[in-house]
Amino acid sequence: MEKIDIKSLTLIQLSELLESLKEPSFRAVQLFEWIHKKLASGFEEMTNLPKTLRENLEKCCEYTTLKTVQELHSKNDDTCKYLFQLSDGNMIESVRMSYHHGDSVCISSQAGCRMGCRFCASTLDGLTRNLTPSEMLEEIYQIERITQKRLNNVVIMGTGEPLDNYENLVQFLHLLFEERGQNFSQRSVTISTCGLVEQIKRLAQEDFNITLALSLHAPTDALRSQLMPIASQYPLSEVIKACDYYYERTGRRVSYEYSLIDGVNDTPIIAKQLVQLLRGKNCHVNLIPINPVKERGFTPPKGNNTQRFKNILEKNKINVTIRREMGTDIDAACGQLRKRYMDQTIKKKGGEL
Ligand code: SAH
Repeated sequence: MEKIDIKSLTLIQLSELLESLKEPSFRAVQLFEWIHKKLASGFEEMTNLPKTLRENLEKCCEYTTLKTVQELHSKNDDTCKYLFQLSDGNMIESVRMSYHHGDSVCISSQAGCRMGCRFCASTLDGLTRNLTPSEMLEEIYQIERITQKRLNNVVIMGTGEPLDNYENLVQFLHLLFEERGQNFSQRSVTISTCGLVEQIKRLAQEDFNITLALSLHAPTDALRSQLMPIASQYPLSEVIKACDYYYERTGRRVSYEYSLIDGVNDTPIIAKQLVQLLRGKNCHVNLIPINPVKERGFTPPKGNNTQRFKNILEKNKINVTIRREMGTDIDAACGQLRKRYMDQTIKKKGGEL
């Protein structure tokens, strides 16, 4: 019999499980608090539960934990990258960034990715598998255990396409927002997507109060599909329409992510095309000089070209910021640490996986 992934169960589902084990209903809240609030690392810590119940749970449930394989602290700023091992041996990475207003974490939603963006390291070896809700939660919980601090913001912007793992993502969010658990503020969560149109509309209908970030990177279909294969499936007009719908439905201003690549998408002409695309929208543009990935050959804008690009948007009344590059010395760009670790492991094994 397959074991139940207990950390992925909502409070209601947990109550049903305990009912089936003939346990009183108040045990569900106790158990939920041990898992999601006190962040117990196993059933043995749950000392106010009867021993027989703990033994029963041990038998029928899997208690998801992550093994911390590496912790890389940046010398430039207070950024830390964690390499975690899943119970089946797969690797994922998460990044913690400290700001004066608190700590943010950037978590992965999949092991690998199948979206194929040309500038991204996460997708180089394709998708291995989706992460479960409990594995996504554990990225947060494990960092909270290590730092002994509550995290203030969660961005789902690490390896993977979160909307390609939709059901698990939504379950993860419900668990994160549960009052008896982390009781996390919805407004402090951002989901970044390469633009899966149907799922953006579905997410809008979930009635969450979370921010949507759209990885735009180009203002025309022709250029965008050179950088992002997904653009051939969904024309920009449809993607932007879905983002407008997200804003109408949730009242949350959409963020457009724009990674600047020297000579590819950073010219004044392209900046003006971007103005045309976004003019009049209540949105925000995040400019990020591309993080060079060895296998990809793209480089960040030269000289003050990033500023030049920003000025054109600003002059046209588009909200824009240049994202501070954090942790570049620790391979903080998506998927770089995981990729390096996997390549080294393959080398050690003489080229076999
Ligand atoms: N799949 C989702 C989330 C993961 S990628 C998405 O596409 O949004 C998170 C963000 O980092 C995206 O905006 C992605 O386009 C960007 N990104 C990936 N590789 C990058 C790199 N080398 N330099 C700068 N940004 C990068």
